[in-house]
Amino acid sequence: MSKRDYYEVLGVARESSEDEIKSAYRKLAFKYHPDRNPDDPEAETQFKEAAEAYEVLRDREKRQRYDQFGHAGMNGNGFNGFSNADDIFGAFSDIFSDFFGFSTGRGGANRPRAGSDLRYNLDITFREAAKGTEVEITIPVEEACTECEGSGAKKGTSPQVCPQCGGTGTVQQSQGFFRVAVTCPHCRGRGQIVSDPCPECMGRGMVINDRDLKVRIPAGVDNNSRLRLRGEGEPGINGGPPGDLYVVIRVEPDKTFERQGQNLILSREIGFVEAALGHRMEVPTLDDPVSLDIPRGTQSGEVFRLRGLGLPHLGSTHKGDLLVEIRVKTPTHLNKRQEELLREFAAIEEDKPLKKAKEFLKKAKDKVMGE
Ligand SMILES: [Zn+2]
Ligand SMILES: [Zn+2]
Repeated sequence: MSKRDYYEVLGVARESSEDEIKSAYRKLAFKYHPDRNPDDPEAETQFKEAAEAYEVLRDREKRQRYDQFGHAGMNGNGFNGFSNADDIFGAFSDIFSDFFGFSTGRGGANRPRAGSDLRYNLDITFREAAKGTEVEITIPVEEACTECEGSGAKKGTSPQVCPQCGGTGTVQQSQGFFRVAVTCPHCRGRGQIVSDPCPECMGRGMVINDRDLKVRIPAGVDNNSRLRLRGEGEPGINGGPPGDLYVVIRVEPDKTFERQGQNLILSREIGFVEAALGHRMEVPTLDDPVSLDIPRGTQSGEVFRLRGLGLPHLGSTHKGDLLVEIRVKTPTHLNKRQEELLREFAAIEEDKPLKKAKEFLKKAKDKVMGE
């Protein structure tokens, strides 16, 4: 996707003053503010795009570089856009604290927030990936403290409503024309004051517990497959939904098989005599070994396909194939008798009827031409 021009994003002319740019950005930030557009990915994109444009155009040096080189001038200069709204609030807190009615962050005291996603790296063997397995993992999760039931106040006491903000978590301040909402400094936005903290969680209301989880690994998973366990991430705040747990699978390579998608690749050596005369051999599979007939005249590098002996496609009973690549081995040591036989073989090769026929024709031709 090509990047939009930063001036176009902010809707300002190229020669706009710093104040015009700031004012244009403020309007957009207000319009696309996530608090006004909950769960609207389009607004979120616009919000990020505007922030990125503003980040560059508000800075004289970056703006100059952008004017000269465009987006290409921004790459590798320590700026890669914003990954989330909280980064934006952090970068432009001066702008956001100017907005009437918005807190500087998304941390309004009672705003429901989704819990964070967690990531867990899981190593499994090649066979486990092929066959599927169930493993038990232990993840650290932040959970409401059971001692104080998440309030953070010592048992038998309860948190008090913050007298400064009256429980809203924000206080109003006057700044020139604007009345500004800022995070309450007394309760740090929580809206409550704990005077007697719970000893178990030190007043945080949350503790870190180990949680055991059974994870079913489906047959056929590949390296770097991600399994999403809905709702197994960190708990939400103020009644928000919990995050998800992502289990990232790392599959150890196998000594015997190589993997290519759902196919397995196996390399096998045979002697040149076996290649010439044909040969029946046993090859390993994920289950019991099977026998494979190598026909007469097999060349080195030929591949034989054993259908359905590969890995299952995820969520299906259909399986890939086992591909057996044959390498023909040339002997490096011959005993006297073997060498005699090979020389004899070579002599017969030279006497092949086709060669004889060619010689005969040549002679006949010479004879005709010569006379
Ligand atoms: Zn507690
Ligand atoms: Zn307060």
